[in-house]
Amino acid sequence: MAKKVKFAGVNSIKFNRQFKDDISCYEYLASVKWADENFECRKCKYTKFYKGKKPFSRRCLKCKYDESPTAGTMFDKCKFSLLIAFHIVFKISTKKKGMSSLELSHEFELRQPTCWEFKWKVQQAMQSSKQHPLTGEVHIDEFFIGGPEEQKRGRSKGNKRLVVLALEKVKDGVGRAYAQIIEHASAEEFEPFFKNYINIKANVITDEWVGYSPLKKEYKNLKQIPSNDGKNFPDLHIHIMNLKGWLRGIHHHCSKERLQGYLDEYHYRYNRRNNMDTIFHNLIEKMVMNNPKRIGDKE
Ligand SMILES: [Zn+2]
Repeated sequence: MAKKVKFAGVNSIKFNRQFKDDISCYEYLASVKWADENFECRKCKYTKFYKGKKPFSRRCLKCKYDESPTAGTMFDKCKFSLLIAFHIVFKISTKKKGMSSLELSHEFELRQPTCWEFKWKVQQAMQSSKQHPLTGEVHIDEFFIGGPEEQKRGRSKGNKRLVVLALEKVKDGVGRAYAQIIEHASAEEFEPFFKNYINIKANVITDEWVGYSPLKKEYKNLKQIPSNDGKNFPDLHIHIMNLKGWLRGIHHHCSKERLQGYLDEYHYRYNRRNNMDTIFHNLIEKMVMNNPKRIGDKE
């Protein structure tokens, strides 16, 4: 099979030229799924195949299972065409603010719940792999999303959700960031967040909240300074304001689970804002790998 060229960039004219129809999307998925010809039958693990009957499918030489490029991926059993699915992934990954399910339903003439459901899959693919912990100087704070602003700590109440956020400082500004919903601002909850997202050698700076203190045992470079109403963490607070503005602008009611999806979506784009060439292809790869484990799940 001809190797499909990796789609690069955010140009929709180029996108429409490469993805003309369902067939070109199937071909692209096949080249991602079976990159380097590494076929392994989903049913019996056999590695030899011949051409299947479905578009760009492969039929296992041993058990004769005809495996579509979409089988076992997040594109499996999709309620609309693969071409529309590709368009949605392209929009969500390359538009600065993404697209809400309502906007998607208008643009592609689909039912909103259908878009909502597919967008949830995309958000799951947008979760961090936790393979690239923040390094250097890392600022951390927690804050409430939804409901009136309160500086009070402890259990989140009503519709409000407590979120912990880590932002990496780099020479000329800010690097990457990660956020996770928590229930209490306790050391027990901070610990897995730190382990997943922050390099043990990082120069972590938090405010003086006691929940962070026990982390000093492992994070030797953790420093606590007075927050001074956020003035000592200006970049972190700008980031949180932008994140909240985005959430308010396009998304209204959302469950705790969904909110984590939005946090993942926001940071997927944010952390790749300087890698727009690969952002679409990378998301397609993640959707093909289909490993929707939620952040905070036990490893
Ligand atoms: Zn087989």
